[in-house]
Amino acid sequence: MALEPRTPVRLRNPKRLRKEAFGGLYMDLPHSLFLIFNETGYLILREVSGGSTPEQVAAALAARFPQEDPDLIMGSVIRFLEQAAAAGLVTLGDSPETLGGAGPAPGSIEPAQAEGGREGPSEYAKSILDSPYVLGVEPNVLSAPLKVLIEVTRRCNLRCLHCYARSGDTGSEEMETEEMKSLLEDLVDSGVNYFVISGGEPLVRKDLFELLEHVARLGAEASLLTNATLIDRERAARLRDLGVLKVEANLDSARPEVYDRFRGVPGAFEMTVRGVRALVEEGVPTRLNVTVTRMNVGELEDIVEAAVELGVREVAFVELKPSGRGLDNYSKLALGPEERAEVGRRLRELSKRSGGGP
Ligand code: SF4
Repeated sequence: MALEPRTPVRLRNPKRLRKEAFGGLYMDLPHSLFLIFNETGYLILREVSGGSTPEQVAAALAARFPQEDPDLIMGSVIRFLEQAAAAGLVTLGDSPETLGGAGPAPGSIEPAQAEGGREGPSEYAKSILDSPYVLGVEPNVLSAPLKVLIEVTRRCNLRCLHCYARSGDTGSEEMETEEMKSLLEDLVDSGVNYFVISGGEPLVRKDLFELLEHVARLGAEASLLTNATLIDRERAARLRDLGVLKVEANLDSARPEVYDRFRGVPGAFEMTVRGVRALVEEGVPTRLNVTVTRMNVGELEDIVEAAVELGVREVAFVELKPSGRGLDNYSKLALGPEERAEVGRRLRELSKRSGGGP
């Protein structure tokens, strides 16, 4: 299907596009996709960020580059937007369908063809014929971090044996709501458009939803690291409605008694499972993290099975960090080199069976 000059085109998620010295960057974090565009590619995507037709985009570019042939501009814009649609970057018409069918297809953007990144107008026609406008650049030219992790509190309702922050009910000082909002504003002003909100347990803060609303109001995106014990259907629905990209929770054991011992609070397993179920039922993208220790090394396959039963599609296994209570308990919990190698082999096998990535 060819794209018509008057077909409406809209950037799927304008929050993910940002200006850079070399042009622009599109960050699709859920798909681990970073697309780097030259000035022209960025301008086209910016034009369609609020919805626009190829005809309107070409007119805007023609006004900016009056020395270029308008027909050439139109043809090049259409070709680029067709490629962007096939990659899932833009939607066409009034429906969310793309030329390429379903969701993003990361591999469908061709590799960099243009050199440099600081083109003058005289280079415009050449570069637009070389579409897509994807550059090979060094990451150190980025204007701001790709994401910023903010630990909004050190307080937590659990007492995990491995907690690197030694979190608990100690009322350590934390930033007030207005201070936190002002920090978010400063970071967004500096170009940051993605935050990972962590703790302690972020949901012990009464203003957590207010902060997430503020992130959305600033035009940025967020994901949340939580133990999920304080999440019910209503809170899960609020997270979904606020556009939280992903919630990462933990499931370090499929056996309640082991989980509760590891997490330091009786009943933690039930509370976590209830929270994760609520997230899944409300359609919040959810990932479960598993810290591999001597306490759970025998049940990694069971944990994956439990995650699948809960409806979770992403499980990540992480090593114990020798920090905080993780350091206090390191000799008791950490695996030796041979055990780690064996775990690696089992996880590769599990991943192959479930069709997942590394
Ligand atoms: S849930 Fe997280 S923050 Fe709370 S004690 Fe456990 S590891 Fe620390």
